[in-house]
Amino acid sequence: MDSVEKNFERTLVTSALPYANGHIHLGHIAGAYLPADIYVRYLRLRGVKALYVGGSDEHGVPITLTALKEGVTPKEVIDRYHTANTAAFQRLGISYDIYGRTSWPLHVDTTQRFFKALDAGGYIHTEEMELWYSPQLERFLPDRYVKGTCPKCGYTDANGDECERCGAQYAAHELLSPRANIPGDASSPVLRKSRHWFLDLPKFEAPLKAWLDGHPEWRPNVKGIAYGWVNDLRSRCITRDTDWGVPIPVDDPDAENKRIYVWFDAPIGYVTNTRQWAQDKLRDANGWEIWWKDSGTRMIHFIGKDNVPFHAVIFPAMLMGQGDYILADNVVGNEYLNIFNRQTGKSEKGSKSRGNMISVRWAVDNLPVDAIRYYLCAIAPESKDSDFDWDEFMNRYNGELCDVVGNFVHRCLTMTVKNFAGRVPEAGELEAADKEMLDAIPRQMAAIAESLEGFKFRQAVERFIDLGRKANVYFDAAKPWVTRKTDMARTGATLYVCCQVVKALCFAMTPFMPGGAAALAATLNLALPNNGPDGGEDAWAAAVAPLPAGSALNAPQALFPKLDRERIAELAEAHRQGEAF
Ligand SMILES: [Zn+2]
Repeated sequence: MDSVEKNFERTLVTSALPYANGHIHLGHIAGAYLPADIYVRYLRLRGVKALYVGGSDEHGVPITLTALKEGVTPKEVIDRYHTANTAAFQRLGISYDIYGRTSWPLHVDTTQRFFKALDAGGYIHTEEMELWYSPQLERFLPDRYVKGTCPKCGYTDANGDECERCGAQYAAHELLSPRANIPGDASSPVLRKSRHWFLDLPKFEAPLKAWLDGHPEWRPNVKGIAYGWVNDLRSRCITRDTDWGVPIPVDDPDAENKRIYVWFDAPIGYVTNTRQWAQDKLRDANGWEIWWKDSGTRMIHFIGKDNVPFHAVIFPAMLMGQGDYILADNVVGNEYLNIFNRQTGKSEKGSKSRGNMISVRWAVDNLPVDAIRYYLCAIAPESKDSDFDWDEFMNRYNGELCDVVGNFVHRCLTMTVKNFAGRVPEAGELEAADKEMLDAIPRQMAAIAESLEGFKFRQAVERFIDLGRKANVYFDAAKPWVTRKTDMARTGATLYVCCQVVKALCFAMTPFMPGGAAALAATLNLALPNNGPDGGEDAWAAAVAPLPAGSALNAPQALFPKLDRERIAELAEAHRQGEAF
C-alpha cells in the first residue's frame, strides 16, 4: 500500500456528477463510475480512510429545455432522473458514501461561498455581452435555447455557444441564421446587451502550471488537454440569463434575472455533498472540512474525457481562489466507450438520435451485474476509445471469468468438500510445484494491487484472471481426481494449495465483482471487511495469510453462471432495435 499511504491519511474519491436529464448508460459507467467504484472498494479492503462522493447535476439549460418541451417543471425532470439514476447506480453496485443533489438548499450556500471568496479575491469581473433575445417571449435565449449555423464549419443545427459537429466554441453573436429552439416561439431572435459575471482564469496561469508540472504521473490524455487549456486561458462567463440555478450573491439589479452557470456550480457539488454527508452521518457540520482542507487528504477525480477542462483547469482554479482548499492529486480521465455495430463492422458513437445507447436500468434487468462490471473493466477506455461488442461481451465473460476463475473455484471446492468432509485438508508434504503455486499468490496479489494503485484497471483485472490461469495449470498438472484413488495425502496437499488460491481470488475479485466475492466468501466462511470512511484493518494484506487446515467449507455454488448464446443474440437484437435504453 506504499503509494497510497505514503504521504496521506485519507482519500477523497469523486465521480463526475451526471445531468439529471436522462438515464445513466454504460458509456458513463465505463468512464467515470466503475473505475472509481473499483478503486474505492480496493481502498476499503485495504482499510484506508476513503470517502466516495457523487450526485446529480441538476442545473443547466438541458434540464430547463426538457421541462419546457414536456410542459413540466424543471423540478419534475430532476426528481425523475435523480431517482432513476440513484437506483441504477445502486443496482450496479456503485458504492457511493453519498449521492447528493445540486438542488439541495445547502448547495446554494456552498456555491455562493465559492463565488464570494473569488469575488473578494479580485478574480471576478463583469462584462457587457451581446446575446440572443426573443422579442415574442421577452427573454434571453442562452446556449441551446438558440440554434443556427456554425460560423466555423457551416453545420446548420449548431447550438448558441458551441457546435456539436466540429467542437467549435464561439460567442453568441457569431452564430449565423439564429432561430429560437423553444416551443411556441416563431419570432426571429435579436441581439441584446446583457451584463454578466466572469471568472478571471488568466490570473491562475502560474499556479495551475506549477500544479500540473508537479504531476508527471497523470495519464497523458488528461495532461494534454489540461496544458492545452492552461496555455490559452481566457476569462469565462459564469452566469446566465435564466431563473434555474443558484442566485448570484451580489447586490446588483443586473443579477436579479440571472443565475450562476452550471459549470461553475456543478463541481462545487462535491463539496456540498461532503458537507451533507458530514451533517447526516457524522452529525458534525464541520466534519467535511478535513476532507477538503487538510493536506493529509488525497483527492482523486474520476471523469470522462469531456470533463477534463473542468477538473484539471477550472475547478482547481476555483479551489485555489478559496485559499484554504486542497487540489486533486490525480484526475483520472477516460476516453469514450463506443458501440460496435456488427452489421456495418464499424464502431459508432453512442447517441440518442441513433438509439444505440444501453441504459444501466436495461442492462441490470437483463444481465448479471458481475458480467457487466467484468466486461466494462476488461475493455475500459483508459488510453483510447473502446467498443461495446455483444459477441466479445459473451466470449470474454464466459471464456475468462466463468471458464478460468469460476471453473477453477468450483472444481477445487467440490473435490475438497467431497473428499475431505467439507474441510480444508492438511498441507502435509509440499512438493516444488505446490510451493511454486503458493509463492505465486502474494506475488500476483501485489501485482494486482500495483495496477489498481496506478489506475490501470484493465491490467488489474487481467492479472486477476492470470492468477486463475496459473491455478488451472497447477490443478491440471497435479490431477487430484487421479491421485485421490491412490494417494490421499498428495491429493490433500494439492487441494490445500488450491484452497489458498481460492481465498486470494475471493479478496482479489471483491473490488471488481462484489456479488461473486460475497457468494464465495460465504462458501469459505470468510468475513469480508465492511470498512467505511473511518478505515480499518488491511484485509488485502490478510488475504495471503493461509486458510488453516480444518477450516469448514460450505457446498460451492456457481459464482458466475454462463451466458446463453441465444439469449445474448436476443438482447443484441433488442439493442439494435433501439430498445436497450
Ligand atoms: Zn461547427
